[in-house]
Amino acid sequence: MHAAEVLGTIVDRYEHAQALAKTAIGLMAERAVAPTPENYELFFGYVSSQNPALSRVMGDLIASRKPITPQLLEDLRKRFFPRMKLEDEMVSLGNNVSEALGSMLAKLEQAGKDTEDYGRKLSEVSGELGSTPSAGGMRRIVEGLRSATSAMEARTHALESELQKSSHEVDELRRKLEDVRKESLTDPLTGIANRKAFDADLHKALLQAREHGEPLSLLMCDIDRFKQFNDTFGHQTGDQVLRLVANCLNENVKGRDTAARYGGEEFAVIVRGAALGAASLLADQIRQVVQAKKLVKKSTGDVLGTITISIGAAQLQPGEDEASLIHRADAGLYAAKAAGRNCVRSVTSAQPSDVAA
Ligand code: GH3
Ligand code: MG
Ligand code: MG
Repeated sequence: MHAAEVLGTIVDRYEHAQALAKTAIGLMAERAVAPTPENYELFFGYVSSQNPALSRVMGDLIASRKPITPQLLEDLRKRFFPRMKLEDEMVSLGNNVSEALGSMLAKLEQAGKDTEDYGRKLSEVSGELGSTPSAGGMRRIVEGLRSATSAMEARTHALESELQKSSHEVDELRRKLEDVRKESLTDPLTGIANRKAFDADLHKALLQAREHGEPLSLLMCDIDRFKQFNDTFGHQTGDQVLRLVANCLNENVKGRDTAARYGGEEFAVIVRGAALGAASLLADQIRQVVQAKKLVKKSTGDVLGTITISIGAAQLQPGEDEASLIHRADAGLYAAKAAGRNCVRSVTSAQPSDVAA
């Protein structure tokens, strides 16, 4: 490749990177979008066409000239960059991302100035060439061009490695944010979804069930006589049992369904697309799997017998909210305990008292 082509590529790359950043920021200013890092991420994603789905949705939105409200941006972010509400640690990580982006922008701005200087030098040279220089003049021109070019190349390399570093930093921060998000949704003892994840998932599942007219069921599970178990074998062995029950749930809950630790020794399962009959069958399957496990104390190898769970099942009724669904599944659980434990009871109507085996 000729030096001129190499130069052309370098300048092109410069200009492309700079143009993307400028277009993103320009669009945000034009549509009165707050210049926050989150919004920049959306707009940069749009103009750089990295994510075709995002580009399509943002393209339609921008073309429609409708006001781009914070709510709309929030929805887009949730859809394309799913992340939970920022907690303290996340806020500080977010600030780091913002700093990294700021320094990236500053570098791009400096690169723009360098490119301008270089362009000026090139046009000076082309002016001098136009006036048919002498041999000595020509040497001077070539010399000037050579030194301007190597200075430009050196700056380009430095900029590229700086940009790469910044972009790695942003990637690293994004990974950390993802870890923090996952951690905030996981129960540390059992490794399955925690109450917070359950609440969010149930809310989503309800909206989807309504939107698509699909059935949705909920199982509430509780370990039988667990206090007695703890009292006999100790809390640590009790914790082992909680992990075992969580594993049984996980193994029997597939795909879109969520198994979560609801609290203490209670677990919940969101069964999407299932009416009460199918959900009750799944509940009974889980109950049998737990009952079939032989409990062995890890440290001593002692056989501790078996444990059982009771389960209440309820199916979402038209117009029902999360609290009512949980309340009815809980009523089923209560009925299962009253019926002697180690069984499943389903709540068959909007009335928590309508219970069937
Ligand atoms: P029931 O069959 O009626 O459910 O009786 P139960 O003993 O299981 O119910 P109860 O609500 O009286 O007791 C629940 C026990 O669960 C109390 C507590 O010792 C135990 N528990 C709750 N959370 C944990 C935990 O994180 N680890 C351990 N080891 N035990 C827990
Ligand atoms: Mg309980
Ligand atoms: Mg219990």
